[in-house]
Amino acid sequence: MERRVRALRTVLAEKGYIDPAALDVLIDTYERKTGPRNGARVVARAWVDAEFRNWLLRDATAAIASLGYTGRQGEHMVALENTASCHNLVVCTLCSCYPWPVLGLPPTWYKSAPYRARAVKDPRGVLADFGIRLPESTEIRVWDSTAEVRYLVIPQRPPGTDTLSEEQLAACVTRDSMIGTGLARPP
Ligand code: FE
Repeated sequence: MERRVRALRTVLAEKGYIDPAALDVLIDTYERKTGPRNGARVVARAWVDAEFRNWLLRDATAAIASLGYTGRQGEHMVALENTASCHNLVVCTLCSCYPWPVLGLPPTWYKSAPYRARAVKDPRGVLADFGIRLPESTEIRVWDSTAEVRYLVIPQRPPGTDTLSEEQLAACVTRDSMIGTGLARPP
């Protein structure tokens, strides 16, 4: 695959269809500048700063942009807060819509047909596959991403984290916990 990509890149550059420097900027962006660490910082801020949390729930796009995370596939963000009584799970039933600026590129399973179908039909079963068992009393809400709206789940803050710094809290926030297929992990 790597050789094929390199060959394709060479041909396209020779024909003048792509600018290798521009390609380097794009690759650098998706390898280094976006990714779940960004979303984790958003969540950690919401955990420690009630005003920011309220802003995030009211206008996620603006609140997230205030931390510097903007760009394609993140133009219309909605934050979903998990509580003891309600757990949010995000899917794109049509394809693989995903909030790139805060989570990076989607994992392979997120794009797979079984996840996309089962997240809607059997969300509890999907969660069980990920090792998550929630009480029957916890409502599960499934959100279908679209080309317009992208979701970021704010997982519940793990117990015993009162003394942690914002940075230490961000380390508790996993990628899956921000999709809803996982929980934030204890420190
Ligand atoms: Fe999609």
